[in-house]
Amino acid sequence: MSSSVALRLPSIDGLLRHPACLPLAERYGREALLRGLRQLLDELRLSVLQGQLSAIEISPEVLAGRVGERLTQQQRSNVRRVFNLTGTVLHTNLGRALLPEEAIEAVQMAARYPLNLEFDLASGKRGDRDDLIEGLIRELTGAEAVTVVNNNAAAVLLTLNSLGARKEGIISRGELIEIGGAFRIPDIMARAGVRLHEVGTTNRTHARDYEAAISPRSGLIMRVHASNYSIEGFTARVPTAELAELAHRHGLPLLEDLGSGSLLDLTRWGLPAEPTVRQALLDGADIVTFSGDKLLGGPQAGLIVGRKDLIGKIKKNPLKRALRVDKLTLAALEAVLGLYRDPDRLAERLPSLRLLTRPQAEILAQACRLQPAMAEVLGEPWQVSAVQALGMIGSGSQPVARLPSAALCLRPHVSKRLRGRCLLNLEAALRALPIPVLGRIDDDALWLDLRQLDDEAAWLAQLPQLQVES
Ligand SMILES: *Cc1c(COP(=O)(O)O)cnc(C)c1O
Repeated sequence: MSSSVALRLPSIDGLLRHPACLPLAERYGREALLRGLRQLLDELRLSVLQGQLSAIEISPEVLAGRVGERLTQQQRSNVRRVFNLTGTVLHTNLGRALLPEEAIEAVQMAARYPLNLEFDLASGKRGDRDDLIEGLIRELTGAEAVTVVNNNAAAVLLTLNSLGARKEGIISRGELIEIGGAFRIPDIMARAGVRLHEVGTTNRTHARDYEAAISPRSGLIMRVHASNYSIEGFTARVPTAELAELAHRHGLPLLEDLGSGSLLDLTRWGLPAEPTVRQALLDGADIVTFSGDKLLGGPQAGLIVGRKDLIGKIKKNPLKRALRVDKLTLAALEAVLGLYRDPDRLAERLPSLRLLTRPQAEILAQACRLQPAMAEVLGEPWQVSAVQALGMIGSGSQPVARLPSAALCLRPHVSKRLRGRCLLNLEAALRALPIPVLGRIDDDALWLDLRQLDDEAAWLAQLPQLQVES
């Protein structure tokens, strides 16, 4: 007869007192250990009855080891750092802009201590949280007034609702865009209570199209930066200055949703031109909205800048309270904006700009440096090469522009039929590393774009743990 008859699982009490479990109780707490042990024993009971486990497999030492692994897993937070080697710098799914040290320090201060969030230290009276960053944003954009909300989607919703509810919002058919997630301009307009009045065509909209749409029902004209797509060829778009003049002639405000909205002309760093907030205001836009965590390089936020009377209306909207930013965001935003006062050093100090402007030669040299380590870990079945690659800014900035970059290109030496599976296995193995590594699959290869690989040592240190299923 098999020995299974005689095998019995150890008791919970015995396990709790066992020397192998004591360090676990110390580390994770008695409650968690107890829960873990109960769960494990419940799962094993049937297998033991059926004689499927050996005495070793249910020894206190082995059980303690298994519970320990589980507790470690459970203790790991769900929010995890990753290596973004996708080639997309401002990656919405990976948290967009990285904050500069100055902002990180400001966030720590705001998290740790009470602060003057809505308190005017000069007068001792109640203050407004927008006042903390208003001066800086006015200085950097030339705007008369400013308010800040949770993100740019909120900025657009709040602005539309404050200035156009129960009226018509006139917008070109070429700008009725979907940004991603569920952010679609027509839906946001509807939710804001603004009746959409679309004019022109997808590729061409003229001043006369806007003009013909204006009636006593009109509340505003809106322009949206076509962030994530581009229309080329036979196109026509009314310049902002001309559209502003037309809007003002009819007593309507012009809203411009810039999306990324750069504060400075990026061409000075060799990057593709993006419309600046200052220019949009100079051209006559009455309100400009833009994100804090796209090209600006700060925390998630939505900035609304422009005419003082309109900003006043927006701030009085009860929705403002529902969409407001928190103290950590404001602290980070002020610190990031502060760096813009010294544009000459911005590319060194602001991580997103530093990464966006890393020279291709430097990234390629890094790829060559890392190639041998990667090739050694992957071994025979893979061809690993250091190559030039093209990345992108991301977050809807310059959808067609490509950033000349460099990558490790990992190509499996297998038949075409097996290639797809091989690449997915490697992708999964990279994702399973302690700091998951995210690349992109393209052209039968896995590409690790190194533009954003700052912490080379941490990346190299975990490579030996890579386990690719074959
Ligand atoms: C990205 C974007 C938004 C949404 O901004 P979030 O900060 O992500 O909420 C709105 N409009 C445009 C044109 C955008 O590019």
